[in-house]
Amino acid sequence: MPQVAVCQVADCAYNQDSTCHALAITVGDGTHARCDTFFTFPSKGGDAAATGRVGACKVSGCLHNVGLECQAPGITVAALQDAADCLTYTMR
Ligand code: SF4
Repeated sequence: MPQVAVCQVADCAYNQDSTCHALAITVGDGTHARCDTFFTFPSKGGDAAATGRVGACKVSGCLHNVGLECQAPGITVAALQDAADCLTYTMR
């Protein structure tokens, strides 16, 4: 599974020091390349010893998407407006 190389969404419960610690994130709501795993919580979660990976991606229109799985070498996630977006998304 591709690694979340950088995540700049500091507010996310799984984010510490620009690193995602969710073991497997889900990206996409079918049309937008948003991180569906993003949420806020009073304390941090995830596995502090692990770096997050893309478990599934529903953005079938992305160049890196093969059979609803991400095949990019790694992705970058950042906050756009009030959502967490996959910046590695590339239109086919
Ligand atoms: S790079 Fe494309 S296929 Fe990979 S997670 Fe981002 S939107 Fe999905």
